[in-house]
Amino acid sequence: KLHNIVQETKGNIRVFCRCRPLSKVETSSGCKCVVDFDGANDGDIGIINGGTAKKTFKFDRVYTPKDDQAEVYADASPLVTSVLDGYNVCIFAYGQTGTGKTFTMEGTERNRGVNYRTLEELFKIAEERKDTVTYNISVSVLEVYNEQIRDLLATSPSSKKLEIKQAGEGSHHVPGIVEAKVEDINEVWDVLQTGSNSRAVGSNNVNEHSSRSHWLVITNIIFHFSMEYLPACGKNGLTFIIFFSMLCIMVRAKNLINGDCTRSKLWLVDLAGSERLAKTDAQGDRLKEAQNINRSLSALGDVISALASRSSHIPYRNSKLTHLLQDSLGGDSKALMFVQISPSDNDASETLSSLNFASRVR
Ligand code: ADP
Ligand code: MG
Repeated sequence: KLHNIVQETKGNIRVFCRCRPLSKVETSSGCKCVVDFDGANDGDIGIINGGTAKKTFKFDRVYTPKDDQAEVYADASPLVTSVLDGYNVCIFAYGQTGTGKTFTMEGTERNRGVNYRTLEELFKIAEERKDTVTYNISVSVLEVYNEQIRDLLATSPSSKKLEIKQAGEGSHHVPGIVEAKVEDINEVWDVLQTGSNSRAVGSNNVNEHSSRSHWLVITNIIFHFSMEYLPACGKNGLTFIIFFSMLCIMVRAKNLINGDCTRSKLWLVDLAGSERLAKTDAQGDRLKEAQNINRSLSALGDVISALASRSSHIPYRNSKLTHLLQDSLGGDSKALMFVQISPSDNDASETLSSLNFASRVR
């Protein structure tokens, strides 16, 4: 049984593709949809290139413009149980600016996205398990812009550069970042809003800035096993553990028996826009930004495809983004990437490049 659990969780990267609807502006200016959803139920998506040639891609899931936030979240929700079973989990949104990365992750007040729904379920499951495990949950919000890490929950801007440090075997952290302790989902919403609002601070164009930085929400979970539960566990041995989920925790918590705690992490990542820079814009700060985005997104692609092909060397150190995520990508962590695309003929070449990127990491 133990063996099965370990086996199942190896190399766990899934890719979901989500296409937004044509916008009003696109429709009124005569844009056509170039995405073919005929095979969507089987995870196939096609793109009609130049009106004729059709290229198809296969994903673990395909969402058409009709699929709503709840449907999208339903497929991501098993990962929440994984986090509370002790696995590190990463959920990303990748794609060109304007394709719905922020809509999928953050959502809107009326149409809440993956971030909120994930944390809401996290609290729900934690409550259900409270007789056996107490979870201490804290949230940090970071931004990576031009290969620099910024703490979006810090009350005063610090001049000190934030760096990634190794905290122990296979574990990384950023010393000095704010970890907001949260007791319930209402507190989480406030923390997420604070982080989201400070993303704009210091830039003259909020939307432009946010499309050029990676936005990361990290939920740290520390497990404390109930004391009444521990002696029973010692007396009867591992095989007497009743809950399947507890069994998963046993696999990971090396020092469970002596009452120590264990921990896991959930990363929710709204990546910088993947679009290529127009040649005319390729100078000065814009060029530097674009190069940093390219570098970090391709580093992410390299890491995920190295993991998928079970390569012996995983190049985590090539960007701040992959370095930050190092202990949550690979090993027995679980990752989910949303590849966001536009249906419009105007965006066809960016759509093709996003689909190519995504099929490489799958
Ligand atoms: P990105 O973060 O990738 O730049 P946004 O999330 O800001 O893109 O989305 C761009 C616009 O498209 C927003 O107005 C958003 O509300 C809308 N949008 C994106 N995806 C959807 C969707 N699936 N359904 C309805 N509207 C969407
Ligand atoms: Mg966005």
